[in-house]
Amino acid sequence: MIVAPFVDTHCHLDAYFRPFEPAAEAARAEVEIIAVTNLPSHRQRLQARLPFAPHVSFALGAHPVEAAKMHEGEWRIFQSKVTTADHIGEVGLDFSPAADRAAQERVFAKVLSMLRDRPRLITVHSRRAVRPVLKHLADAQLTGAVLHWFSGSRVELDAVLSAGHLLSINTAMIASAKGTDILRFLPRERVLAESDGPYARHRGKPASPSDVRAVYAAVARLWSADIRDVRAQLARNLEAVRTGVVVSTPCLFP
Ligand SMILES: [Zn+2]
Repeated sequence: MIVAPFVDTHCHLDAYFRPFEPAAEAARAEVEIIAVTNLPSHRQRLQARLPFAPHVSFALGAHPVEAAKMHEGEWRIFQSKVTTADHIGEVGLDFSPAADRAAQERVFAKVLSMLRDRPRLITVHSRRAVRPVLKHLADAQLTGAVLHWFSGSRVELDAVLSAGHLLSINTAMIASAKGTDILRFLPRERVLAESDGPYARHRGKPASPSDVRAVYAAVARLWSADIRDVRAQLARNLEAVRTGVVVSTPCLFP
């Protein structure tokens, strides 16, 4: 029987001092990595640093907190890579108090307008901005996006699910009551896993991609399922995102 790999769908490999170390550790732990980037030029730089890492995919990103840095040169790279990029992220909105909302919305809307040709993984930041993120995705007629490290309300979660999107769960979430609650209410078809390393923490340390195995273990406990079944389910979910056939689920909450 072929067992599906563990997949870390959101890791900032370029934020580690030596990216090849967590990458090698992940390979030993049978973890595939989707390495998100904050700017298109960062993706190119990371690719150059990890030329021999077949278990790492490089996502094309334009992070909301870097919106002011999306100059012409960055857009040129984005444009030239977007047709072939199978993974997009990190993109989204962050409406923390000091944020330049207008610049972020311009960048996010433009990015989404370039993704309509085919389905693929879009890993989305939505801190304090779940509703505006959902509106932008709806305007661009995109479903099957993945909201990473979701921290919104129950009502917002319902809206996310009704709109056909997924959540990726990280080690910080499974260590918190709120995160566990979110996971408990998620339909199995809407769950992916991530480390969000090194920014999320696991057992008091910055998370590494191999720590995503702890998320799979937590999901298995919660579902009372065998870990191999969890690996298979999350692999199906990722495939559904990549092919644009996310199962629609009815509203969960009365
Ligand atoms: Zn992130």
